Amino acid sequence: MQPPMQPTTANFVPADAEAALRATDPEIADALAREVVRQRNVMRLIPSENYVSSAVLAATASCLTNKYSEGYAGKRYYQGQENVDVVETLAINRARALFGAEHVNVQPYSGSPANLAVYYALLEPGDTLLSLSLPHGGHLTHGWNVTISGKLFNVVQYGVRPDTHRIDLNEVRELALKHRPKMIICGASAYPRIIDFEGFADIAREVGALLLADMAHISGLVAGGAHPSPVPHADVVSTTTHKTLRGPRGGMLLCKAQYAKAIDRAVFPGLQGGPHNHTTAGIAVSLKEAAAPSFKTYVHAVVDNARVLADCLLGHGFELTSGGTDNHLILIDLTNKGTSGKPVAAALERAGIVCNANSVPFDKRKPFDPSGIRIGTPAVTSRGMGPAEMKLLADFMAEVVNNLSDEARQARIAADIIALCQGFPAPGL
Ligand SMILES: *Cc1c(COP(=O)(O)O)cnc(C)c1O
Repeated sequence: MQPPMQPTTANFVPADAEAALRATDPEIADALAREVVRQRNVMRLIPSENYVSSAVLAATASCLTNKYSEGYAGKRYYQGQENVDVVETLAINRARALFGAEHVNVQPYSGSPANLAVYYALLEPGDTLLSLSLPHGGHLTHGWNVTISGKLFNVVQYGVRPDTHRIDLNEVRELALKHRPKMIICGASAYPRIIDFEGFADIAREVGALLLADMAHISGLVAGGAHPSPVPHADVVSTTTHKTLRGPRGGMLLCKAQYAKAIDRAVFPGLQGGPHNHTTAGIAVSLKEAAAPSFKTYVHAVVDNARVLADCLLGHGFELTSGGTDNHLILIDLTNKGTSGKPVAAALERAGIVCNANSVPFDKRKPFDPSGIRIGTPAVTSRGMGPAEMKLLADFMAEVVNNLSDEARQARIAADIIALCQGFPAPGL
């Protein structure tokens, strides 16, 4: 071991970084500056998005982007790793403590390669996978036919119930008993209810399947205690770091000790080369932030805001998938409003409200112009907005949807939203 080095005040993000970028590349600088203004002045309701803190931004913009470090701490293929090892080890230890995980890998470039690494570690081509279908809220990487996971595996999918729009563990169990999957996947991208990880684990155990829980959307809620944790129940847990967890864009894998070697080998050298160390630094910072008491307050406010927003939308006659929400997201079926997701998402954007068109369960329309929109409260809650703002937001949304072709009205709402946003400065901007 080397003796600890003296603390240094050297700048890791140069003080003149912005000026340098403006001088070198005005076109990119201009696009970035405009994006800051956009992120300040609109209600960002895409439920997979958030605002990171200035501290996370600084770590992510740091000199670690210059460093190669294939391998893992203490076992690298290049020299000069004394600082990278500190960063990656802190990230791993913080994630283990925060989620109570036996083993953590922080190197996946994002959520999709993290899932691919799990398959590469634990499955063979042709194995059977049982997962939630994409149109019912699952993720592409859970075996959808256009992805490599759909090509490599025999994919069987469960859905939500037509009457409740909730996952039906009886259906999951019947499919598991019939198809004997090697792996069951739970976790979703567009599911507004609590996921019963323990129930999934019971089924996996009964049929001898591995259980992968993909908590990409909800890992922040899990960290802060606003959603039950999959970590005690699943063999492997995958997550992104940039959604409710409020870190930089990246991925993580958490697993039982018995899978540690296989998971690490699948990430590197199986799928990836050098880890993105600047991202790892940002992840470490965000994990420290997520362990603070204020993060608990934040994620509970995210869920409270979603519930208030859902109630107000119901009051305006909107139909919500499953009738409401338990988490950070809401799926609105626009069929009863005589319209669909694409035109509504476009009109809302003109009014300063940014969301995405989304399929709803049993959608009769095509995925490119589906029947619904998906909204969520992680980003607006990071700005400190609360129930009063959610009520205003629902009023604005109703006004837009009820007057879809009235662009003058949308422009007036956009101006009102800029004024509202000024009272809630976005972190990091
Ligand atoms: C977002 C998401 C992913 C993929 O994350 P990327 O970082 O976009 O690759 C994987 N699984 C689920 C459930 C997600 O919601």
